[in-house]
Amino acid sequence: MNDCLFCKIVAKEIPAEIVYETDRALAFRDINPQAPTHVLVIPKEHHADAAALAEADRGLADDVLKAAHAVAVQEGVADGGYRVVFNTGPGAGQTVFHVHAHVLGGRALTWPPG
Ligand code: 5GP
Ligand code: ZN
Repeated sequence: MNDCLFCKIVAKEIPAEIVYETDRALAFRDINPQAPTHVLVIPKEHHADAAALAEADRGLADDVLKAAHAVAVQEGVADGGYRVVFNTGPGAGQTVFHVHAHVLGGRALTWPPG
């Protein structure tokens, strides 16, 4: 995907503060954090959104969710509570169409979300 921002981060063409990496997933800090911990977890392989990730083979969605939890543990927010969010589609606020899990924690998170 030549024009994809997050593919460029995977390719190290655009810098990011990487906090966790596996062979198939990458996690880096959101450039505009909404909580003390705000990390984006992506599959290295390009899929547009959570629907496409759910269709991906070889358990890729499983890898991304496991990476999200590993990030929460590493960031020290797993015990206190954290949120994993996939904004899916423009109506849900998705702006970057390379699927990403937001891992949010480190403060009280209200419900319902905006
Ligand atoms: P979405 O709105 O698609 O759910 O989330 C996209 C997220 O990507 C936003 O929270 C935004 O702050 C973040 N973001 C956009 N561009 C960049 C970038 O160049 N680097 C990083 N680290 N995060 C970005
Ligand atoms: Zn991409």
